[in-house]
Amino acid sequence: MTLFRCALLLLAVVAALGTTGESQAIAWVIAAATATSLVQSVLFHRRLSQLIHPEWDDGSQEPNSTDRFDRLSRSIQTIRGKLKRRVERLAAERDRLGVLLEGMAEGVISLDALGKINASNHAGRALFETNGDGSGLSLIEVLRVPELHETAQRALRGQAGETEFESTDGRNLLARIHPLKQGGAVVVILDLTEVRRLERVRKDFVANVEHELRTPVAVIQSSSEVLVTHGSLSGKALELAEAIHRHAERLGLLITSLLELSRLESGKHEIELVPTNLHAVIERSLLLCRDQIDAKGVMLHNTCDPSLKIVSDDQALEQILVNLIDNALKYGGQSIWIGTQSRGQNIELSIEDDGQGIEARHHARLFERFYRVDSGRHRKRGGSGLGLAIVKHLCQAMKGTIRYEERQPHGSRFVLALKPAKQEEKSSVLGP
Ligand code: ADP
Repeated sequence: MTLFRCALLLLAVVAALGTTGESQAIAWVIAAATATSLVQSVLFHRRLSQLIHPEWDDGSQEPNSTDRFDRLSRSIQTIRGKLKRRVERLAAERDRLGVLLEGMAEGVISLDALGKINASNHAGRALFETNGDGSGLSLIEVLRVPELHETAQRALRGQAGETEFESTDGRNLLARIHPLKQGGAVVVILDLTEVRRLERVRKDFVANVEHELRTPVAVIQSSSEVLVTHGSLSGKALELAEAIHRHAERLGLLITSLLELSRLESGKHEIELVPTNLHAVIERSLLLCRDQIDAKGVMLHNTCDPSLKIVSDDQALEQILVNLIDNALKYGGQSIWIGTQSRGQNIELSIEDDGQGIEARHHARLFERFYRVDSGRHRKRGGSGLGLAIVKHLCQAMKGTIRYEERQPHGSRFVLALKPAKQEEKSSVLGP
């Protein structure tokens, strides 16, 4: 081909030199076109060689055309081998994913861009109200749940969503639908029947505790109080009446905490997030703890900025603070510090004491329900081990966080991070 182009170029040049007028012009055009095509062909060939054999670049061992052909053919063989291995790897990967998908307990249904089913796993097909694998059918044809259909339509338009529904056999199912970048969507269906059953058990338990335990404990509390304060008992009898009263009080507190925690965990606790004057809530909480503070003779240092506004629920924040101050009184030393500082997007409120602090091995579990640092001193101070679990739930409900830090040289620091109130919200702030 290259030889043919060279001959054509030569002919065109000779013709151009040997003619005049229009024929000469035509001959020069042909010569120019042939020369351009010749140069392009050479460059293309060179580039191809560089790509396949970069080692030829140094020109030290430029092979002849037979060598080149051999090498080109060997390269094509190598590329073919590589491609084959890649295809095999992809096929193995596809098989592995297929087995994984089929083995999943959650139902998975894939929809194409038109909302038609193009794949599903065993758990997904088991939910279908029709026979077969549903291929080519729309979701509403295999699962007649209008809310599910609507969520799927929204997902096909790019908006992920979820919907809970009841299957024909009475199971509680949750469908999560995610849009795919290339069009279509994937539906993942979880069986929540057991979760919902446990929620009902918990609700019944809370109702039962409320009726069956709270009332008798309240009667024991008040009766033992009468026995203790009436003055008619003395000696061993009075001692026993006092013990009954003390334990009834503890049991009463435990029941209240348990019910509170149960309500929080079930998400039934109502939280109203409004701009709040932090200083005012701290003052109210301190007032509630005043008797214990005075009885213990603890020094209080409150450095909170009186004008600070945060977004919180007054009641919940007060409950958190009373819990943390109460702990600082129970487990701390002779001083309590309450302070605030802004960090990043948050306002951090810290409650510190100069007690013996908490060993590092307990930090991770501190906010778990019933977790108590098992030191003899702490156990003697009563408590249920539910206080910090309630504090954590209340913080989360207010979209805040709480963490524990060691205080130097000794003591504990609990840090509560909450969002500051925005400027425009300040006008509606409650408090002084
Ligand atoms: P409790 O009702 O036992 O006080 P909490 O959930 O409030 O339950 O606290 C869990 C445990 O964490 C407590 O038993 C105590 O050992 C430890 N703790 C809490 N606050 C402090 C503190 N300020 N200093 C030292 N230990 C603390």
